[in-house]
Amino acid sequence: MPVELLVLHYTGMPTAAAALARLCDPASGVSAHYTVDEDGTVYAHVPEDRRAWHAGVSTWRGAGDVNGRSIGIEIVNPGHEFGYRPFPAAQMDAVEGLCRAVMGRHGISAADVVAHSDVAPDRKEDPGELFDWPRLARAGIGLWPMPSREDQGPFDAAEVAALLTRAGYDAAAPRVLLAVQRRYRPAALTGVADSETVALLRALVRAMGR
Ligand SMILES: [Zn+2]
Repeated sequence: MPVELLVLHYTGMPTAAAALARLCDPASGVSAHYTVDEDGTVYAHVPEDRRAWHAGVSTWRGAGDVNGRSIGIEIVNPGHEFGYRPFPAAQMDAVEGLCRAVMGRHGISAADVVAHSDVAPDRKEDPGELFDWPRLARAGIGLWPMPSREDQGPFDAAEVAALLTRAGYDAAAPRVLLAVQRRYRPAALTGVADSETVALLRALVRAMGR
């Protein structure tokens, strides 16, 4: 299948060396196209015309097999399990450059740059709420919704489900709102639809043109 998605991950291992060893071990069953270390070093693992096994059971825009239609980038960070910490500037510089190049080679749109937690909200939380999505969005990598007056106002569960679906999410996933907040409203990870989260979703869908 053509590549239409870019999926960003954190490695979630205690060290970069441990993460690289696992990604290079055929017995692990996991792989990625690239890994970006904290100092900005980029490791290329799987050629971009080959499938890598990074997303697991995932869905986006109503379809599964995310691995078959995406490029996966692992970003070194211990993750929530081993001491989650901010992503250094040198690392973000490298991530930005790599994402821009991958998007250019495959014609991936800003709306189709996703977090692992976006496509597998009940299983995954990476790259997480410390990842600098606003910075990447300023560079045209992913979207950063800016709600306006028209995005405010009352909502109901049916509208929230429709917005989630239009944005690409699996609206039936129990932790889907937590995934939305982890990416777009990291200051308050409640997992509950509130007026700010809904306004962000309305602005996001509008920015996506969906
Ligand atoms: Zn991941």
